[in-house]
Parts: sequence; C-alpha cells; structure tokens
Amino acid sequence: MSTLPLIEASYFVSTVLFILGLKGMSSPVRARRGIVWAGAGMLLATLATFLWPGMSNYGLIILAIALGGSSAWISGKKVAMTDMPQMVAIYNGLGGGAAAAIALLEFYRGGLSAPSVTLLATFGALIGAVSFSGSVVAWAKLRGSLSSAIRLPGQNGINVGLAVLAAGFGVSIMLYPELRPVLVMSFFLVALLLGVVVTLPIGGADMPVVISLFNAFTGLAVGFEGYVLGNPALIVAGIVVGAAGTLLTQLMAKAMNRPLANVLFVPVAGGGGEAVSGEQKPVSAMDAASLMSYAQKVIIVPGYGMAVAGAQHKVWEMSELLEEAGVEVVFAIHPVAGRMPGHMNVLLAEAGVPYEKILDLEEVNGDFAQADVALVIGANDVVNPSARTDKSSPIYGMPILNADHARNVIVVKRGKGTGYSGIDNALFYGDNTRLLYGSAQQAVAEMIQQIKLLAQ
Ligand code: NDP
Repeated sequence: MSTLPLIEASYFVSTVLFILGLKGMSSPVRARRGIVWAGAGMLLATLATFLWPGMSNYGLIILAIALGGSSAWISGKKVAMTDMPQMVAIYNGLGGGAAAAIALLEFYRGGLSAPSVTLLATFGALIGAVSFSGSVVAWAKLRGSLSSAIRLPGQNGINVGLAVLAAGFGVSIMLYPELRPVLVMSFFLVALLLGVVVTLPIGGADMPVVISLFNAFTGLAVGFEGYVLGNPALIVAGIVVGAAGTLLTQLMAKAMNRPLANVLFVPVAGGGGEAVSGEQKPVSAMDAASLMSYAQKVIIVPGYGMAVAGAQHKVWEMSELLEEAGVEVVFAIHPVAGRMPGHMNVLLAEAGVPYEKILDLEEVNGDFAQADVALVIGANDVVNPSARTDKSSPIYGMPILNADHARNVIVVKRGKGTGYSGIDNALFYGDNTRLLYGSAQQAVAEMIQQIKLLAQ
C-alpha cells in the first residue's frame, strides 16, 4: 500500500499546527502553548518523512537527529537568560545554513530539471548562506567577541560586487552543467562571504533590524528549498517564518526610525555623538526608595542591564511592594531594549509581571510627564535624548522612551558605562536625574529593604 496519502495527511496536520503555533506565539498568554504546538508539528513532519517511498540512509538520519536534538536540548537547558540573544541568532543562522545545504546537495546530484526549480534553489541557497554566515557574525557581535561596526573601505561597492558575483555564479550553474562542481563551490563561497561582509559594518543600535532580516531570510530560504524538494510542510513552515521575520524587520526598522536600505547601506553616524558635560548626581537606595514610596505614579524602564543582572524577579517584588503602598507602577518597554526582539517582555513575563502592566513605547510615552518617578534599570540607549536632537549621534532619529519628561529620574547602573551604541547619555546628567550605582540585582534588593522599612 502506498504511504503517500498518509504522508500528505501528516504534512497537512503539521501545517495546521505550525500556523496555530505561530498564532499562539503572538500573545504572551498563549506563547508557551504555541511553542508546544509548533514543536508537535515539527515532530510529526519529521516522522512522516521516514515514510517516503525510496527513502534510505535511516541510520545517518537518526544519527543526525540524535546529535542535533541532544546538543539543542543541552544548550537550551544550560543557556543563561543573558545569552539567549546569541543563541537565537546562531540557531536562526543554522536554519538558513540547512536550507542552503539542501540546494548544495541538489546541485551536485544534478536533480534539478526545470529552470524555474533551479532558480528557486539558487535564490534559496543565496539567502540561506547569507543568513548563515551573517548570523555567525551577529552571534560574535552579540557575545562581544567582535567590535560593533567594522566598515571596509568602499563597503557598498564590495557588497554590490559580491551580490552580483554570487548571482553570476548562480546563473552559470544553470548554463554550464559541465562546470557545475567548480561553479557551485564558487557560488557558495561568495554567498557566505557576502553574509559576513554585509553584517560586519552594522553596528550602533541597528543590530535588531539585521537579526530580524536574517530571520526572514532563513524562513524564505526554507520555503524555496521546500518547493525544490516538493515538501509542503517545509514550504509552509518556511513561508510562515519568512512572513513573520519580514513583519518583525519592518517593526524593528520602524522602532529605529531607519529604513532597511539605510541600515544596510548608510553607515551609522561615525562619531560618538556630542560630548555631554555636567556631573552625575548619586542617590542612596534609601532616598530612592522613599521618593518612590511617596509617589503616585512610577514608570519602570528596564534595559539590557536588568537582563545581565537577572534582576527581573527583584524588580517585580519591588513593584508589588510599591503597589501595596498605593503607588501606581507600570513598565515601559522599548522595542529594541535588551539584545533581542521582545527581550524585556520575555524577562518580565518570566518574573510574573501581569501583561496589562507592560506598556509599549507608543502607549506609555505620553504618561512620563505625569509620572513622579521614572526608574531606569540598566537601560541606556533607549532613553538617550540625543536621539532627538544630535545629528552626529549613531542613534539619531530613533524614537526613545521619554524618561526625561518625568518629574524625577532614578537610574540604576554600575558606573559610567555606555550602552550598546557606545555613546554618552545626557539623561544621566539632567537636573532631575539621580544615579543609584550598583548591579541591578543588588541595587533593587537594597531599595526593597528600604521600602519595607518605610512601610512599617
Ligand atoms: P544599553 O545596551 O543601551 O545599556 C545597558 C546599560 O546597562 C549600560 O549603560 C550599563 O551601564 C548598564 N548595565 C550593564 N550591566 C548592568 C548591571 N549588571 N546592573 C545594572 N546596570 C547594568 O541597553 P538598552 O536596553 O537601553 O538598549 C539596547 C541596545 O542594544 C540598543 O542600542 C539596541 O539597538 C541594541 N541591540 C538590541 C537588540 C535587540 O534585538 N533588542 C539586538 C542587538 C543590539 P554600566 O556599565 O554603567 O552598568
């Protein structure tokens, strides 16, 4: 009996599970369920693949699944919350690399008959390979092993030249089958180099945009290679990821107020922005606590420093104490805060902060003027007022959270460290700003102690 109807039915169910999974992930309440559904879809699609007529190499397939699955399981269990952005970047890149590997195999096998299929395989291979090598560079930048922006002389010319060369090799693979081995190798080398060269100069605060773009590339590459293999589950999974990644790229580009073309081709402002003069005024945990305990409204702005310190649970404990004292507390989230899209939302959800207390930039920005205290915990670039006024700043034009409009600003940070974009922040020198120095975990714990004393 043919197994094809069973395979097709399984792929159909997988496809439904992928779509329901993604729908679930659009809301923090249903996100966990969404991940389980999408995972179940992937498992079903993988099992169905074993039923393909003429399938062989079962031992190698099982070995690959065991190696990949166990290393992902172990790294997923072990990864520190602070290392999540790097892990997401590299896993995304591996998806693109896997899609490119499908094309590589098909090129060598010479199994691509119709020119339209070869074209899709080539395009999928190009963006998959770019996503793979670009994500490796993004991974290195996110973990701090590579400096933020490395710009080569004649950068745009090199990018365009490599893209044209890769396209040329891609077309030649179709035209000169007898030269296929050498052309395929050259095509992949140039495509991988293109990914590296495109990503190296991206820095300042533009990284979220490029990470989302590679996410979209990986999805599209998987979709194209799914078409090449005639595998509907791959096509749908790829299109779903590609569409979600494209929307995320648009969202991130809007959050930075930088069109995608600018992120890729226009260098961020070269300098470190205008120098900021003045003095930072320190505050004790006791004074910060009493300022907040007697406030009516406190807006908390979390940033990368809160993630590094793993302080989200303490921050929520402090907020609950303030609420018990009659203070209204909300959280203001900038779309690029932290080091991955949704970073702060994930951490606050993990700490148990109710979703209605977590407000987006547009929702909350008008409220700062009515807030007695803006408590900035480990955030820097996302509250830097130079983004509004200083044209030499690498983050010029990025909409920021208006923490400086609050009556009082308390900033928790360890010292005079800059944010990801490496520039000074005038907010920290403002008349209404006080600095509570220390690691976020420790500083918030001290404020909690003082708030408890005040409540006695
Ligand atoms: P920033 O990186 O701008 O600033 C983080 C601040 O946290 C620093 O000023 C640092 O100062 C402080 N800090 C570091 N460790 C601690 C600690 N243990 N306790 C307390 N404070 C600490 O963070 P933002 O969230 O404001 O901005 C994110 C930046 O990262 C943006 O520029 C964004 O574009 C970029 N980015 C975002 C990605 C995303 O997808 N969201 C991806 C890649 C980059 P100090 O050293 O003095 O403590």
